[in-house]
Amino acid sequence: MKNFESLVTNHGLSAILDHIHAIVILAQKDGTLLSWNRAFDRYKAVFPSDGKLEDLFMDKGEMQSRILLKKMERWVTHIFPSQAQDGLLCDCMILPLENDQILFVAEIINSAPKLLDKVDSLSRQVEVFKNESETAKKLAKRKEVEVTGVMAQATEISQVDQLTLLPNRRKVLHDLQSEVLRAQRYKTPFTISIVDVDHFKKVNDTYGHLAGDEVLKNVGEMLSEQIRHPDLAGRYGGEEFVILLPNSNAQAAVEQASRLCKFIRESVIQIPKQVLQITVSIGIAELKPETDTWETLISRADAAMYEAKAAGRDRWIVAQ
Ligand code: GH3
Ligand code: MG
Ligand code: MG
Repeated sequence: MKNFESLVTNHGLSAILDHIHAIVILAQKDGTLLSWNRAFDRYKAVFPSDGKLEDLFMDKGEMQSRILLKKMERWVTHIFPSQAQDGLLCDCMILPLENDQILFVAEIINSAPKLLDKVDSLSRQVEVFKNESETAKKLAKRKEVEVTGVMAQATEISQVDQLTLLPNRRKVLHDLQSEVLRAQRYKTPFTISIVDVDHFKKVNDTYGHLAGDEVLKNVGEMLSEQIRHPDLAGRYGGEEFVILLPNSNAQAAVEQASRLCKFIRESVIQIPKQVLQITVSIGIAELKPETDTWETLISRADAAMYEAKAAGRDRWIVAQ
């Protein structure tokens, strides 16, 4: 401290005070400003010319009583060196001097405008990021919905035959396997029918492939119309269709097959400039829960269908 005193004496206090950022004011005990350092200069211009020390504070009475206490005090508060400006948060010190004068020192706590600017700009960036992340979330949600839609479409496409719009071979085989397992587990009956268009090659050869396609579409529609829930008709191959009959025995499939043979035989299929009539042959196989797998079930039905062909077509046969 001694060293400081000689420093101040030898080199002049005002140069030192002008160098620091803290506001330093020398005032009379009634608060009249006597002298101040450069840090207060910029505020002094807008400070009332007859302003007193307490005018720097929101609560003037409190400051007056601090002055009257004649004690060194330190506290943190806002000071308002200019009415036009927001307060400055300051670490304040009041120091009563021996000659009844007062030294007031205010170290501005938020006096680093660059840092404040930085905080401001960072806060704005945070806001931008928040908004962006909200947007990103929304975009992600939208994409998720899109993906779900596309996946649903893909599933649909992968399971639907594009010509007849019936379940395709993949879907039919999938359902066939589940139904076989279910029937074996719950000991319920399960039967399948294979429906093959008779002399279909002739349709293609005579009227063209497009007419053949039209016939297949018609057969698909007729099958869908003629079967009942929960039966499922699908396209198994070229001109072969499969019907799954969950919870049904061969007898139910026979009734359905004779209805189908009759309905298709009597139907007229319209192709460009022409009408056609076709017939189908049907092979029926009821699951033998002890010995059948889905593969043996389908090959028994297939064999029965070929038997129906050999027996003259336009009929059904139940596999043994
Ligand atoms: P069968 O009475 O013994 O069943 O004789 P078929 O002529 O119906 O049987 P075959 O197996 O000899 O011929 C089936 C034909 O079906 C051969 C094939 O070119 C045709 N085909 C398969 N898929 C399609 C298709 O998607 N569209 C058309 N137009 N023809 C198809
Ligand atoms: Mg065939
Ligand atoms: Mg055929």
